[in-house]
Order: sequence, then C-alpha cells, then structure tokens
Amino acid sequence: MLYQQERAIALKKVKRSLVLISLAILSILWRLPLLKAEDTKVYVTNSGTKYHRETCSFLSRSKIAVSLNDVLISGYEPCGVCKPPLPSQDKASARASVPQTSLYRINTTSLTKSSMGDISRMLPAEVVGHVDGDTVRVRISNPPAELKAIETIRMLGVDTPETVHPSKPVERFGKEASDFTKAALLGTQVYLAFDWDLRDHYGRLLAYLYTPESRCFNALLIEEGYAYAYVSYPFHFMEEFKGLEQAARQDKRGLWRNL
Ligand SMILES: [Zn+2]
Repeated sequence: MLYQQERAIALKKVKRSLVLISLAILSILWRLPLLKAEDTKVYVTNSGTKYHRETCSFLSRSKIAVSLNDVLISGYEPCGVCKPPLPSQDKASARASVPQTSLYRINTTSLTKSSMGDISRMLPAEVVGHVDGDTVRVRISNPPAELKAIETIRMLGVDTPETVHPSKPVERFGKEASDFTKAALLGTQVYLAFDWDLRDHYGRLLAYLYTPESRCFNALLIEEGYAYAYVSYPFHFMEEFKGLEQAARQDKRGLWRNL
C-alpha cells in the first residue's frame, strides 16, 4: 500500500518535470529565430551607406562589425555585390522598435565643471576607429532615433593640431595628440554627452566623451597640452576649457613645451 502510494507520487513528480522541461525547450525554440536575427554580424565601412558580408571586397579599406538589427535601424542598405543577409522583420518595424531614449544634453544641466558629468545618464559606445586627436569613430549598439550605429565623433570644445587635413601640413604636436587619443581610446568603452548642436556641418556628431572612470576626455586633452580650447562656437564648458588651456600653457605641458 505504502509502496504504491510512493510510486504514484514519484510518477507524478516525473510527469511534472517532463512537462516543465518540454515547456522550457519550447520557449527556447520559439525565440531562436529572433535571437539569430539580432546576433547576425554584418560589416560596414567608415563612410559607405551599404552593409556587407565579411568577405566582401568593398571592405578592403575599412571594416566595422555591426549587428544586422543595428544597421537596419541606422538605414544602411544591403550591398548589391556580396548580398548580405536580409532582415527577418521588415525595416519599418525595425525602425519602430528604436528606443526613444533622450540624449544627455549638458546644455540643459546646471553643471559648472566637466568632471560633474553623470555617465549613468550618457549613451555608451565603443571606440572602433581613430581619425586624429579630436576625432574618433564609435559603434553604438541599439542607437536611439537621432543616431546611427556607427558615428564619427568630433569632440566638443577642443582642437588638436592638424594631422590628416588634405590641404594643410601636419602641425607641430599633431602626431603626438593623435597618438595619445588612439592609445587612450581605441577599443575602449566610452560614454557620450551632447550640447547645443548635435552635429557639425560635416555631419559629425559633436560630443563630450567620458571614460568609464567618469573622466571627460575632451577636458583631459586640453589639460595634458594635447589640444587647444576651441572657442569659435559656444559650448557649455567653455570657461572651464579656457582655464585648462591657460594652466597647460603656464606649466608648459604638451604642445606648450619649449615655447
Ligand atoms: Zn558587399
């Protein structure tokens, strides 16, 4: 009698766990196609408007891995030559799923120093390319509506000596500034904050770039003597940046050395 009761209870337990296991398997299978679409990697170039398969010959000059979802949100079109994977959902619904996060605009705050920026409110991004001392390329996962998955960032309020201008000679200390930015940022996670204007007339994103240690990299460039304060256009931290330049000049740091 007792034995039979125990057996019945044990059987019930086995049945219940079988049901649970199959439910779990079903729910994983259900989500599989979705997961796959989000994880598919495709490739874009520094300046193109198409996305590609990894082996496409159009990627010989620059090659940045992006998730299929993100390129679709950003409005990239599939390359006609390498025929990369197409979206599982149509582009309209991909765009509709763009998060409506608001960008952290420093000009709407009462912050008086760049060190007070709150990185938890900023947009995380990964530095995937380097142009010169004050300009980098970033990848933004799940970019908000105003932004693309890959953006060129022109750091606000700073100007490093020229290294890549097509018609100007390389300026004194330009290479040092460029190398400093590359060594400090390339491959790292950064946080983006914005100001009055989101873009300059080249379409580059104007941003303050913060390190995970909450350091404003724009300010650091001036402080270490790798950049001038760029005061041709108003920006929130102008007074602070002017002061940082003055201090760097007095202490003969970086480009102010041996002047
Ligand atoms: Zn291609």
